Amino acid sequence: MTSLVWFRRDLRTTDQPALLAAAAGEDSVHAVVVFTPETWRKHGVGANQLTLLCRRAQSLRAELDELGIPLHAVHASTFAATPDALLALAEEIGADRLHHGLEHEVDERERDEVVRLAFEDAGKRVHAHHTQTLLPPDAVQTGTGGPYKVFTPYKRSVLKQLTAEGDLVAGLRPEQQAEPCEAIGSIPDAIEGAGTTVELGTFDLNEKEALAGLDGFLAERGAQYEAQRNFPAVAGTSGLGVAFALGTLSPRTAYAHALRRLTSHPNEAEGLDTWISELVWRDFYRHVLFHFPRVCMNRPFDLATEAVEWRNNENEFQAWCEGRTGYPLVDAAQRCLVATGWMHNRLRMVTAQFLTKHLLVDWRWGERFFAQHLVDYDFASNNGGWQWSSSTGTDAAPYFRVFNPISQSEKFDADGAFIRQWVPELAELRGKDLHDPSRIAPLLRSDLDYPELIVEQKFGRQRAIDAFKTARASL
Ligand SMILES: Cc1cc2nc3c(=O)[nH]c(=O)nc-3n(C[C@H](O)[C@H](O)[C@H](O)COP(=O)(O)OP(=O)(O)OC[C@H]3O[C@@H](n4cnc5c(N)ncnc54)[C@H](O)[C@@H]3O)c2cc1C
Repeated sequence: MTSLVWFRRDLRTTDQPALLAAAAGEDSVHAVVVFTPETWRKHGVGANQLTLLCRRAQSLRAELDELGIPLHAVHASTFAATPDALLALAEEIGADRLHHGLEHEVDERERDEVVRLAFEDAGKRVHAHHTQTLLPPDAVQTGTGGPYKVFTPYKRSVLKQLTAEGDLVAGLRPEQQAEPCEAIGSIPDAIEGAGTTVELGTFDLNEKEALAGLDGFLAERGAQYEAQRNFPAVAGTSGLGVAFALGTLSPRTAYAHALRRLTSHPNEAEGLDTWISELVWRDFYRHVLFHFPRVCMNRPFDLATEAVEWRNNENEFQAWCEGRTGYPLVDAAQRCLVATGWMHNRLRMVTAQFLTKHLLVDWRWGERFFAQHLVDYDFASNNGGWQWSSSTGTDAAPYFRVFNPISQSEKFDADGAFIRQWVPELAELRGKDLHDPSRIAPLLRSDLDYPELIVEQKFGRQRAIDAFKTARASL
């Protein structure tokens, strides 16, 4: 018997249920990654992450090689071409079983169904496993058997189930295979036509590095996470987003390690509990898209917000993209994203709210822009984050509570270190002027070579509130 393990965004050898299941029998195990650049491009995935995905597939090939498992590369271009290409590989290597992790987005589910039928028609068996979440999205239910729409009770339920489960599979790795063979197909350094000039080295982690990063973070910064996670100039978060997005790191492993640290260092609970909550947010957004697939199809969770009349001014959107809004924190955040492929969570919320509230630009425009640039792009979390910020999602920010980008700046970048790094034309400014250069006298301001406010703060805020009110009233 030969089993084929199809890796997706679960690119690891440890705590990988599909791989473990394949290796559990007498089977000889092969693995495969399917490259579908045309579909990925259609889904808006940008060059930064696609390049990291290629590099991760290369390092996974080396890791699997140590276990005697060949990682084949299939180039199918689209999801539609995947079933035939995968089946052809299965025939070539004589595989009679396919194991894969589950993906819950609509197109992915459709693709998997066609693959399953094609394999079963060919007399082969298909086994799907949960590889990307703490718990399967359908395993968490309210008292009445429905999906959760609010985070806090969802989290309570997840943590209760995980505690009851006790023995998390974290750490398990398959045995060395007896008769290794050559891997078929080359793994490119980057996707053709999707090159990037962004320096990605710090995000390019193999499995050992990701695990070391996890343990290093928990030991050195986990305790301070709650206190430091909101300050963009401080390295207060784990920086492991890419490892989670590509599946180099299993969320269950991360949870198990955090819990172990918590048990041995109960005085660090404040920080570690909050970090665990963030892992649950990641699951929550998958739970939402699993139960409400419309969010995968460009629709808001809160259907009432479909009536919001977005202004969608192209020039203003462009100014936001390029960091030319006249709001230093927003501009610093956007420039940082474009230059590095990463943006701090606090800033993601600030710039997303600014775009969708003060500029009244459709959240889907911002969602696409982030997908193009973020190294840790993840459909569910990005969609969830945008719908939270734009008050169109479930358990989202209320539409009348609009972040003031100047107060956010004074609070979370008080000494202006982050702004100075990314908006050097303001580096000489001090105090309130740095957070809001519009308060400087016009004559002096003209020396700064920095844009005027794209919209007055209070005016933009009120315009957004009115637009949401009107939308709700029109129902
Ligand atoms: C508008 C917007 C867009 C976002 N887009 C993405 C995205 O494409 N991909 C992505 O992984 N996260 C996204 N987030 C969530 C969050 O900003 C990032 O996960 C976080 O900044 C990554 O940094 P870190 O790895 O240091 O996280 P840490 O703070 O160390 O958290 C650990 C892990 O928990 C998960 N996590 C943390 N916060 C959240 C959250 N609010 N929602 C869901 N998961 C979370 C991530 O996997 C993260 O790596 C978005 C948030 C907003 C507001």
